[in-house]
Amino acid sequence: MSRVIFIMGGVMSGIGKGIVTSSIGKILQGKGFTITAVKIDPYINVDAGTMNPVEHGEVFVTDDSLECDQDIGNYERFFSSDFSSDNYITTGRVYLKVINKERNLEYKGKCVEVIPHIPNEVISQIKKVGKNTKSDFVLVEIGGTVGEYQNFIFLEAARMMKLKFPKKVLSVLVSYLPVPSTIGEMKTKPTQAAVRTINEAGIQPDIIVGRSVFPLDIVRKKKISIFCNIDIDDIISAPDCDLAYEIPLNFEKDNLGDRILSKFKMKKRNTDLSEWSNLISKIRRSKNPVKIAIIGKYFESGSFTLSDSYISVIEAIKHAAWSFFKKPEIRWLSAESYEEDKNKLKELRDYDGIIVPGGFGSRGTEGKIEVIRYCRENKIPIFGLCLGMQLAIIEFARNICGISGANSIEMDPSCSDPIINIMEDQKSLLKKNQYGGTMRLGAHPCTIKAGTISAKSYKIKNISERHRHRYELNNDYREILEKNGMIMSGINSKKNLVEIIEIKDHPFFLATQFHPEFKSRPTAPHPLFKSFISSCIKKRDKK
Ligand code: GLN
Repeated sequence: MSRVIFIMGGVMSGIGKGIVTSSIGKILQGKGFTITAVKIDPYINVDAGTMNPVEHGEVFVTDDSLECDQDIGNYERFFSSDFSSDNYITTGRVYLKVINKERNLEYKGKCVEVIPHIPNEVISQIKKVGKNTKSDFVLVEIGGTVGEYQNFIFLEAARMMKLKFPKKVLSVLVSYLPVPSTIGEMKTKPTQAAVRTINEAGIQPDIIVGRSVFPLDIVRKKKISIFCNIDIDDIISAPDCDLAYEIPLNFEKDNLGDRILSKFKMKKRNTDLSEWSNLISKIRRSKNPVKIAIIGKYFESGSFTLSDSYISVIEAIKHAAWSFFKKPEIRWLSAESYEEDKNKLKELRDYDGIIVPGGFGSRGTEGKIEVIRYCRENKIPIFGLCLGMQLAIIEFARNICGISGANSIEMDPSCSDPIINIMEDQKSLLKKNQYGGTMRLGAHPCTIKAGTISAKSYKIKNISERHRHRYELNNDYREILEKNGMIMSGINSKKNLVEIIEIKDHPFFLATQFHPEFKSRPTAPHPLFKSFISSCIKKRDKK
C-alpha cells in the first residue's frame, strides 16, 4: 500500500492548503518518489460542474471528463502529470457510490450506516488511487476547516486509516496564525484551538504548517510545540510568498521532506529539486513586463475582486511569459463596462494582448464582442478561449460577413442566424434537465491545418485538448466564414467540428473551442499561449 498523508486546514479556509499539498508532493517527487493526490470537497455536489464560478472558483477539467476543483489543476501544474476522476472525492460522490452499492446488494444484507460505511468508501478510494497509479505516496487534501460538521466523515476516514495502518499514515495540519494590526504580535491561540478540535476527532497532527504573513519565530514555535504536543522540528513556517511555485523550496529550508521521510522510516532516493529550482531562478530573473488583460465577468464578490475563476488562464499566461524571461502583468477588465461606454475601448491600447476567456450566459457578451472587434481592427493580439471563440466568430460574422443577426442560441434562442448552435444530443439532455456532467467534456482529438499559426505553434498535426461547453460553430455557416477569410485551423474530424479559428493579416487573432489553459505547466508552457505571448512581446517592442 502507498504511504498516505492527510492534509487538513485549521482556523480558516483560503490559507493555501492546495499549494501546501502540491508543495509537499513536489518535495517528495524531488526526493525520487512517485506521487498522486486526492482532493476531497465536503459539499453535496457530485462534481464542481454545476456551481457558479464566483461561488466556487474555476472549474477544472481532467482528460477523462471530470469537472472538479481548481486544486486538481494545482497538482497537475506542480507534479507535471495528468490526474483523473479517481483523484476527486466529494460528499455527493461518496454517498452516491455507497447508495448504488446498497441498491446492488453489495453490503450483503447489512444495515448501511454513515460510520463506518462512508469513511470506508473514502479509504478504499484512496487505496485504489495509490494502487492504480503505482504511487509511493497518496496526498489527501481535506477541503474546509477542521471543526466543520461537513468534513467530519473525512476526518473519520483519516482516523480509521491511521488506526489500521499506523506506520503508513501521517496527518499534516495547515493552520493560520494572525498578526492583529492593533497588537502587532503573531497569535498562536487559534492554532491551539484547531489542534484541540482535531484531537477531539481522534487525530494528532504529525506536522503543523504555520501560515502567516511572517515566518514563525522560535517563541511562536515553542508555544505551539508545548500546547499542541508536537516536536518543534515538526512545525514548519509558511509565510506569505508572492510566488506559489517557490514554496516547496521554502519548506525545504525547514527540512520538511526529510521530516516526512524519517517518520515513515524511508530514505531519499538519488534525485533533487534542481529542475524546479532552475525554474524558480528563471522566474526571478524575468524582467520587462508583458501586459495582458483578461476580459471577464466572474471577478466581483461583494466589495472584493476575485481572480480564482480564471486561475488556469492566469497560470498559463505566466508560464508562457516566463519562458521568454518576461514578467507577466495581468489585469481583469469587466466585459460589461464596454457595453456601457464604447469610449473605454481605447484603454485596450495600454495592453500588449487581450484574452477573452470562457463563460456562460449572456451577461457581458456584447461587451466582449466589442472588445474583439476593437482588437481585430486595431491589430491588438487577441486570444479567445471557448466562449471567446464563439464570440470571435459572431463578431466576424456580423462585421465582416454582414450577417447582422448572428448570435449564439445560448444568448438569444430566437436569433435569425444561430451561428453558434447546440447539437441534437445536447438538446435532448437539456429537455430532460440533465445538466450535471453532460457538456462536451474532457480530452478530444483535433487535427491541425498546415501553414497556420496553430501549425507553427504546435509543430505536430494531431493534438488533444480539453473541452467544457455545450454549443458549437454551426457548420451551415462555415463556407461563408471561410470565404470571408476566417481560417478553420483545427478540426475534430470524427465529429466534423471546428476547434480552432484564426484570421490572416493580424499579429495574433486566434481562438479555440477547447481550453488550452488546462494543459499548461510551468515546466512546459502551452504552445498557443507561447505564440500569443510572443506576438504580444513583438507588439510591445514595436511601440
Ligand atoms: N457557454 C459556452 C458553451 O457552453 C462556452 C462555455 C465555456 O466557455 N466554457 O458552449
